[in-house]
Amino acid sequence: MQKLQLFNSLSGKKEIFKPIVKDYVGMYVCGPTVYSNVHLGNCRTWISFDLIYRYLKHLGYKVRYVRNITDVGHLEEDSDDGEEKIEPMEVVQKYTVDFFQTISLFNLLPPSIEPTATGHIIDQIELIKLIIKKGYAYEINGSVYFDVLKFNKSFNYGKLSNRKIEELISNTRSIEGQNDKKNPQDFALWKKAEAKHIMRWPSPWSNGFPGWHLECTAMSTKYLGKKFDIHGGGLDLKFPHHECEIAQGEAITGEKQVNYWVHSNMLTLNGKKMSKSTGNNILPKDIIDGNNTFFSKSFKPEVIRFYMLQSHYRNIVDISNDALLASERGFNKLVSAINLIDNLKVSSTSNGFDLIKWEKTCYESMNDDFNSPLLLAQLFEAVKYINSINNDKFSISNKDLIFLKNKMNIFFYEVLGLKIPNSNDKSILNNKIDGTINLLIKYREKARLNNDFETSDLIRDELLKLGVKLNDSKDGTNYIIN
Ligand code: AMP
Ligand code: ZN
Repeated sequence: MQKLQLFNSLSGKKEIFKPIVKDYVGMYVCGPTVYSNVHLGNCRTWISFDLIYRYLKHLGYKVRYVRNITDVGHLEEDSDDGEEKIEPMEVVQKYTVDFFQTISLFNLLPPSIEPTATGHIIDQIELIKLIIKKGYAYEINGSVYFDVLKFNKSFNYGKLSNRKIEELISNTRSIEGQNDKKNPQDFALWKKAEAKHIMRWPSPWSNGFPGWHLECTAMSTKYLGKKFDIHGGGLDLKFPHHECEIAQGEAITGEKQVNYWVHSNMLTLNGKKMSKSTGNNILPKDIIDGNNTFFSKSFKPEVIRFYMLQSHYRNIVDISNDALLASERGFNKLVSAINLIDNLKVSSTSNGFDLIKWEKTCYESMNDDFNSPLLLAQLFEAVKYINSINNDKFSISNKDLIFLKNKMNIFFYEVLGLKIPNSNDKSILNNKIDGTINLLIKYREKARLNNDFETSDLIRDELLKLGVKLNDSKDGTNYIIN
């Protein structure tokens, strides 16, 4: 079978995946900035990397997956307005909780380590000292900047995003103190805090805070080493964030730090990138609750995840009502077939489907740069087969049925991370319980009519033990649940 290939943004090609240490994979993915609610676009990126993580694990790799939480930001205090003082950690807590609640809707596996930037200030300060020592950073007025031009003399700044140094304009998240820089391309490693900046730490240079790019270099190096296998993030982070990470990493060790740079593409809404700053975004919970004006109905998180996986992670996905409706139909078809497997009639022999070839094609799809839409297309081939067995058009032997069921489970649950939505709809659940209790009441009635008081009392007493109390009246029997 063909080996796993993944598209490396650095080479612009698909490459055969070879980990640094046999059987082990180190993977770092940029996580959320916990200063606002995560929108569906953010979720797409983490769903893409969840797919990659799941498949690597499925192949048997021991993966250390690190996804950071950016909790150092640019909260400023407006001292005059007399409003309640902002406590940065309260903001961080609120949106960290939101982040975890939101991604849990989509069945994401927890990473191995989820380090926070504020928990690694000392590590970041140490890295800055090292970069200064190596001669690639300078201090001005309490702030420290990375010297891009100097770095570019020995290394290649811009190689990931294919940008020429002359054309670059610095695009760091910090604005103040811009004039201190020797060159506009230089980016901040440490910023001296202005009076109104409320998140600050002491350092050899000033009371201040680290630059955004540095936290990822500090945390990836700390947990995955000076060299590791995969670094991921959304395509929008390629420049400047990842370009700056490469520069920092190479300035420190003199060598390439990351073997495979993997970028997932954007989710768009109304044809434009979903983004928190432009307001062109939608929150997952508003789709799931149906609390929005964009979609005609609510959609389950399982359907949304399925919808995302129907596109390759390197393609743009535009979310629309029609697309989600179509995905919902497809997903329901897949779920019905999976539910049907257990009830299929087995025959002495199988016909109509080559299971071995099918399994091979499933793996080839995923080995081709995690091509989930191709894998899903294969699962739909199996759906056709399952339905044909059910309609007596084709047959399956017991051995093959076990094989098919096992593979469908592996690809559906384990690799794609899909789930069959439980009938968590309260009304559905309540209807089922109500129907079951009423059925028991009917049997109790029947037993009593037959003078079988042993059975009728048993039903009453056992229900009572479960907290269901039956009340007999002249109008019949009803119940209350305690
Ligand atoms: P941020 O919190 O803005 O740093 O973004 C967190 C992650 O979400 C990053 O990996 C971004 O690349 C990703 N992201 C932001 N917007 C989108 C989008 N519209 N579609 C997919 N990923 C996105
Ligand atoms: Zn990052």
